[in-house]
Amino acid sequence: KYIFKNLWLQVVISLIIGLCVGLILGDDVGVGLDDETLDTLTSYLKIPANIFLSIIQMIIVPLIFASIVVAITNLGAKDKLKTLGLGVGVYFVITTTIAILVAVFLASVISPGSILDLTALQESHDLSDDDLQIKDGFSLDDIPSIIPNIIPSNPIFSYLEGQMFSILVMALIVGLSMAALPKESVKPLLDILESIQKITLYILLFSMKIVPFAVFGLIVGMVATVGMGTMVGLGVYMGTVVLGLGIMLLVYMLILKFVAKRPISSTFLKFRNPQTLAFSTASSMATMPVTLKTAEDDLKIDPKVSKFVIPLGTTVNMDGTALYQVIAVFFLAQLFSIELSLLAMLVIIVTSLLASIGTPAVPGAGVIVLSTILVTVGIPPVGILLLISVDRILDMIRTMVNVTGDLTASCVFDKITRD
Ligand code: ASP
Repeated sequence: KYIFKNLWLQVVISLIIGLCVGLILGDDVGVGLDDETLDTLTSYLKIPANIFLSIIQMIIVPLIFASIVVAITNLGAKDKLKTLGLGVGVYFVITTTIAILVAVFLASVISPGSILDLTALQESHDLSDDDLQIKDGFSLDDIPSIIPNIIPSNPIFSYLEGQMFSILVMALIVGLSMAALPKESVKPLLDILESIQKITLYILLFSMKIVPFAVFGLIVGMVATVGMGTMVGLGVYMGTVVLGLGIMLLVYMLILKFVAKRPISSTFLKFRNPQTLAFSTASSMATMPVTLKTAEDDLKIDPKVSKFVIPLGTTVNMDGTALYQVIAVFFLAQLFSIELSLLAMLVIIVTSLLASIGTPAVPGAGVIVLSTILVTVGIPPVGILLLISVDRILDMIRTMVNVTGDLTASCVFDKITRD
């Protein structure tokens, strides 16, 4: 009964069984199925995960758009918008900056990229010298072309392409306008958006039932095809990221204790459902329905706060991702023997702050968006190939940190709005 009621336990059990089955099927310690059979088998095992992710994709754009517009409109009507909206924005920037500084410190002190040899990696990944050519970095002339692109000139296109950041900007503009207009003139759209929010949340909560099966399929596929061996080679780099993510968890504990004034251990214990789900799906977006439910049912956060902070945090507040991206850039710069000037470091800090805001909350997005940061310091984008083999496990952990950051934020603003 206990297992049946607790999603996190079901997920942990699926993870463990999936890990064992993956090891048995893979060639590290197991029977070593041939690639073709393994591909067929894992593609079948991934069916529940694909169904689950399709449902999420089907629902996420209207859900995020509706949640944010409704939240801003309602908050605006109560004149709380200024404090909450602005406060949340500032808080997100502060915590992400802390994550980035932790990353800069660890990557400089541990210097994980100096340990590896580029030529060996070049051979094992079959890369030509051209691929590894160092390019020009960012210059201040690039700014005018970057800024206008943030506003979606064609919102339908952004919707069709699922460009979450553009959708978010549009939701902010629409929400602010609706908050400024008289209540009667916006009520019809507000009612529609509110029911869209309720329906999409209902669908998401219902689809959670597939999650343990989805997790099982994903893990078997990962362990059997990637293999443990690949992960050991980049061990120091991975260790640095994991250490940094661990430090962020400590930072959240301090924020919970001193800012949100909640007991650390019992509050963290209540985070376990969304944390285990984030760990196993590697997607804050897929975890969002459970994050919201935990915030409201277990942490007893005012729904007005949670329905604003969690959807917004899920899309823009990614401390784990920012930390990971900075360590990855330093790692590659060290590997390619690129000296980072003070300006280059500053550019890395600012772009990774923006990049983490713009990273979609889906599996593997962080490493793809990383290429935009690499370009700013001239590291060849092919560097990403070196990181991809071990990305999944880091993605799982950083997503868990991302979600923990959102939950901590909702505790903080619950406290602030109650006071
Ligand atoms: N998977 C992460 C998330 O959903 C994003 C990333 O790849 O860093 O939060």
